[in-house]
Amino acid sequence: MILGRRSLIAFAGGSAAVAVTRGALAGSGSDLDIAYINGKIWTGAGPDARTDAIGTKGDRIAAIGADAVRARTGKATRVIDLQGAFVTPGFIDPHVHFVIASAMLSQPSLRTAANRQDFVERIAAAAKALPKGQWLEGGNWDQDRWGGEMPHRAWIDAVTPDTPVAVIRYDLHMLLLNSLALRLAGIDRNTPDVPGGVIERDAAGEPTGIIKDAAKDLVQRAIGIPTTEQIDAMTRQGIALALSKGVTQVHCTELDTTTFDSTRRLRAAGETGLRFRHYLPLKDWAAQAALIQREGRGDDWVQWGGCKVVFDGSLGSRTARFYEPYADDPSTRGIVVTDPADLRRWVEGADKAGLQVTAHAIGDEANDIVLGTMADVAKASGARDRRFRIEHVQHMKAHAIPRFREQGIIASVQPYHAIDDGRWAVRRIGEERLQTSFAFGSLVRSGAHVCMGSDWPVAPIDPLTGLDAAVNRETLDGKHPDGWHPEQRITLAQAMRCYTHEGAYAGFHEKSQGLIAPGFVADFVAWDSDFFAADPHLLAKSKVLRTIVGGVQRFG
Ligand SMILES: [Zn+2]
Repeated sequence: MILGRRSLIAFAGGSAAVAVTRGALAGSGSDLDIAYINGKIWTGAGPDARTDAIGTKGDRIAAIGADAVRARTGKATRVIDLQGAFVTPGFIDPHVHFVIASAMLSQPSLRTAANRQDFVERIAAAAKALPKGQWLEGGNWDQDRWGGEMPHRAWIDAVTPDTPVAVIRYDLHMLLLNSLALRLAGIDRNTPDVPGGVIERDAAGEPTGIIKDAAKDLVQRAIGIPTTEQIDAMTRQGIALALSKGVTQVHCTELDTTTFDSTRRLRAAGETGLRFRHYLPLKDWAAQAALIQREGRGDDWVQWGGCKVVFDGSLGSRTARFYEPYADDPSTRGIVVTDPADLRRWVEGADKAGLQVTAHAIGDEANDIVLGTMADVAKASGARDRRFRIEHVQHMKAHAIPRFREQGIIASVQPYHAIDDGRWAVRRIGEERLQTSFAFGSLVRSGAHVCMGSDWPVAPIDPLTGLDAAVNRETLDGKHPDGWHPEQRITLAQAMRCYTHEGAYAGFHEKSQGLIAPGFVADFVAWDSDFFAADPHLLAKSKVLRTIVGGVQRFG
């Protein structure tokens, strides 16, 4: 498209001639609302596709390139000089847990707690800041920061006598409760384990405070739910953060409808500023199909029509489902959170109703079961542009990798998990299984559709941290300066595409979103440095200057 325009200009022999021709052809005249000029603009249309100006009209891009933009710049057009800023399409994050993550913005940060004392002190300080009796949640702790010892309620009881504590491990699969919280949740030595969940107990049979997976529901019930005003305030905080990082769209892959309900309320009051696409719990697919019957699928700001199911657990919690036991705990090979027969039934039902289905699969067996189920349903229900997705796709047998392209299944991956889990994954599953883990390079080179995102709050929403991880694969502990499994690195242009146009494809919007091109939504970001010119190891240092969504500057 860009080459075509350039050759047209050359053929016409000058920009004035082109202006007349194009204006006459388009019947548009001096109609731009805003002309952004003097940019170093990476359009996303190819690895080296560049232009220097963008003209917008309403919420769309109307023209690109200095000549075309000048030709449609009139008296009413506002001209913004980008002064050489680097510009990219807006980043699309296809996997976030939006309200949970937004709520954490006002919760204690335990992620960087470096030892037991540090962990306890941070909880003590946060508890002190809360009104008596209010639950202390969030945290994102990571026991591997202090050598791997699991925290225990006894660590924190003394500093939280009046505050029920339910702080979560950063993978969202595991809580640490203090004794008060256990009491309020009604969990004691006599409480039976919940199917799909674990109440960890000591040698004497007393709960240690660690609660895993489905057993977390017992705690959630005791905590209760915040008001809609509180939730919407959190959502607004999350929107502001996302825009400040250059994210213009998120796909919410949630376990409930909290974010969905909140964004619908915000949308009723106006534009949300950040675009939302919702993936609601697959087991409730029929309710979603009924909603679509009544109200359609939303609009460019808030839309729905996707379903998400969690099939297995996580590597950190040793609940991701593998064929072989964990290397550091031979008693388990992980769990299945959803019964495979339910999975099959729900995927088929949702797919027949025209809904897009995505499934969380991390372990190698989990990926195979989900791939197999999706193949069976596609075969039974016939050809359709269904765009099944799998979230995470972390660990695979080698035979699973080509199946994504063959079956037309989108791999929705989070590069930051590789440099994070890469610090300790070898202890969990050994070297051999890591050969085909976080296999972004193999997936991209296979020709599969691969979209990349954060899994915020499991990883930072800042897309540059993910780009950096995909391109460099340096683990967070600094132990792999040349890349952890470096053969799975991808190029910057490939990673950028996965973070923009592939995200649009994953949401069925590749013809109107994810590129800087005429007719596409005007979603783009100006940065203080050119990613392609910078030292690749300093990628994550670039700063957002302005974020434009739907033709309106929302940040900067
Ligand atoms: Zn997730």
